[in-house]
Amino acid sequence: MNIRAKLTLQFSIIVASILLLFSLSVYLLSDNYRREEFFSRLASRAITTVRLLVTVKEVDYNLLRIIDQNSIHQLFEEKLLVFNESNEMIYSSLDDFPLIYSDSLIAHVRTQKRVEYTVNNREAVGIVYTAAGEKFVVIASAFDRYGRSKLQNLGQVLIAGLILGIGIIILAGRIFAQQALRPLAIMNAEVASITAGSLNQRIPGGEQRDEIGQLAQNFNLMLERLEAAFAIQQQFVSNASHELRTPLAAISSQLQATLSKERSGAGYRKVLQSLVEDARTLTELTNGLLVLAQSGIDKQRAFFKPVRVDEIIFSAQTELLKSNPTYQFQIEYAQFPTDDSALQILGNDQLLRTAFLNFMDNACKFSPDHSVHVIVGFPKDGTIEICFADKGPGIHPEEQTKIFDPFYRASETSSRVRGHGIGLSLCARIVQLHKGNIRLESQLGEGSRFYVGFQTGG
Ligand code: ADP
Repeated sequence: MNIRAKLTLQFSIIVASILLLFSLSVYLLSDNYRREEFFSRLASRAITTVRLLVTVKEVDYNLLRIIDQNSIHQLFEEKLLVFNESNEMIYSSLDDFPLIYSDSLIAHVRTQKRVEYTVNNREAVGIVYTAAGEKFVVIASAFDRYGRSKLQNLGQVLIAGLILGIGIIILAGRIFAQQALRPLAIMNAEVASITAGSLNQRIPGGEQRDEIGQLAQNFNLMLERLEAAFAIQQQFVSNASHELRTPLAAISSQLQATLSKERSGAGYRKVLQSLVEDARTLTELTNGLLVLAQSGIDKQRAFFKPVRVDEIIFSAQTELLKSNPTYQFQIEYAQFPTDDSALQILGNDQLLRTAFLNFMDNACKFSPDHSVHVIVGFPKDGTIEICFADKGPGIHPEEQTKIFDPFYRASETSSRVRGHGIGLSLCARIVQLHKGNIRLESQLGEGSRFYVGFQTGG
């Protein structure tokens, strides 16, 4: 069942129930009022009759019957019985409508003083009347023709009103639900038409200040983010394939040139060495791309454990020295931590080692003396900041944010030093994953300082 049908049904059930309850209460209250009123009319008829019979000496049994029959107050199918102290019937109105009575009923009336009841749709009332020290019991019964026909009429009006009302409610409910859901239906149609190729499309309705407007706005914002992510992804793939193509093209042209004529053993060795170099570049590049892809997965945070920052720096140094024995490292603490926990952060040691290794590799790569100065500081309680300083060429102010984009290489160094431009974007992602921050201080010709800060603890 769709929301529109559900809304219509719920709305109709609620309003119809209220209408039904209202009609029922009106009917029952009216019936109650009719009975009360009829009982009091019956009682006053009974008292008038018994008073005439008992207290007015001039009126005898037969005269009373005549008066009774000609009274304008006579009720429909009225029957009146009067009993004396010893329960003997001393008066019965002429009408031959049956009025069932018993000794126990009379006794009951004597104890209760006034009894009201309904038998076979006829209202009856029993009253005790005291005159000249004698207690008479009068029972009067009649059919409330006028009241009942009014009530029947009211019942018919209410049933007709109810049927009509429910019909109108269902119709109104349908229209109401349709109108309330129209913006959603429009939005649904728009959303269904959005494909991977039309992420620039936006859905209307965002200007409305209601929940649907908010939904449209948030959906459009999500589309914007998706579009941006898609564009970055596409750019990344094309950059990655370009980067991979270069060493692959070099490998294949070298192989073709080598195979074109017979070579000496030394000649083959030279080519193979060059191929090893290209293969190493390819491996580095693919490894970097792999880590870059993995570092974007936020689920990694679930596997974070406490790690010591200085230990990771030393292990990155050892690893770098294996492939670059000429690199020089100076690692120091700005002030020595009082507590080991000041050096501990919550993170992934593999990823952090990759990031620190990249900062140190860049510093050594771009410094003429291939050295890096690493300073571990504690700027505020609960924070740790690692500074990677070098005496390299520095980075142009305009390029200082761009170097963190994948595949971006600064103009100053790109032609001279080997690289792919993914190291820093990888560092930025890893630091971001650890909820840390990176700041760069660099002046052309004077060197660069990359500061990486984290919250300690864990
Ligand atoms: P790669 O070093 O492989 O080129 P990175 O992403 O590590 O890639 O660096 C991007 C660019 O940022 C580098 O090509 C270089 O131009 C610039 N860069 C990074 N670190 C330094 C540094 N310490 N000194 C000067 N330039 C740097």
